[in-house]
Amino acid sequence: MPTDFVYGLLFLLLPVAAASGWLAARKKYNLSTTQSYIDNVAPEYYKGLRYIINEQPDKAIEVFLRLLEVDSETVEVHLALGNLFRRRGEVDRAIKIHQNLIARPTLNSEQRSQALVELGVDYLRSGLLDRAEALFEGLLTTPYKAQAARYLVQIYEDEKDWDRAIECAKVWQQNSPRVLNKRIAHYYTQKAEEKLATKEYKSARDLIKLALNEDPDLAHASMIEGHLEMEDGNFKSAGKAYKRISKQAPEFISEVLNPMKIFYREMSQDENFLKYLHTLPTTQAGVNQIIELSEFIEMNEGRDSAIRFLVEKAEELPSIRMLDRLVDLSLLSEKGQNRTKLECFKRLTEKLVEVKIAYKCTNCGYRARSIYWQCPACRKWDTIKPIQGTISE
Ligand SMILES: [Zn+2]
Repeated sequence: MPTDFVYGLLFLLLPVAAASGWLAARKKYNLSTTQSYIDNVAPEYYKGLRYIINEQPDKAIEVFLRLLEVDSETVEVHLALGNLFRRRGEVDRAIKIHQNLIARPTLNSEQRSQALVELGVDYLRSGLLDRAEALFEGLLTTPYKAQAARYLVQIYEDEKDWDRAIECAKVWQQNSPRVLNKRIAHYYTQKAEEKLATKEYKSARDLIKLALNEDPDLAHASMIEGHLEMEDGNFKSAGKAYKRISKQAPEFISEVLNPMKIFYREMSQDENFLKYLHTLPTTQAGVNQIIELSEFIEMNEGRDSAIRFLVEKAEELPSIRMLDRLVDLSLLSEKGQNRTKLECFKRLTEKLVEVKIAYKCTNCGYRARSIYWQCPACRKWDTIKPIQGTISE
């Protein structure tokens, strides 16, 4: 089956083949030469396209190189070759082809913009981000603005320039069928996080509002809002923001149980936290919920009851953190040789907790120890989730 790349390349080449190549040929040659062009060049060109469809890029390159010897003017052959070289990792050759194409005074503005987009992608692939950025910025005033904005978004995400990422994502969204509100909401939240780090609470709060305007269901925004209000001493607002997460993205509620405990404590409402914990399904709140519950049991019914509770839960849902908590509780009751043995055991469980992989990308399988809202491997947003229901939870 042809890949997305093949579809993309054909989508790029077929309309130009129909409109520009053969028309250019008519202008260039007299009638009889045009006939010869159609007889000799066109079949070869479509042969090249067939090789692309059949995923035989080397053969396609051979055909297109031969065609350039017959006629060096055809734009679509250059575009096809540039793409194929880039696909094979020969980005320098792709750059040369696209640069040569752009240098021609005979190109019309559409062909020129198309070649510039391709050159920009070459620069991106070869890590020449400044050049790519300048080139795509220049295309924002052309009909190719959606494509340019799409690549600029990628560059500004890498540079963590959230202001420019927001501007370009909006241009991209306005000029294509893509819906990017969730992504834009993440950018506002990333900015809010930066403001929170420098204790600019008002700016951070305004940015969270903008994020939730773009996407009212963004758990990332609610989480940062909760942290922000906690830090600024507005515990009630923090609690509201954290509780919202259980509706927005239930799998993330376990991430905020610890700050929620602090919020209830600050409000002198420990009992309400216990009630809240009981309202959460174990499938959502996982091991964090069990550990928090064990603290209540320890406080109200004693250490032995907490240990019994944990042992019972560990049989249903064995986990390294539960084991670590069990060792902690057991250490408090042991003395002498038993305590020394348990201390060795504790060092081991502590190490295991430290190195455990807690998050996984649902798109590419990337595994991480800390949370990322954008996967560092596949660059998708919102695909990294806490790992639940496994021993490493
Ligand atoms: Zn991923």
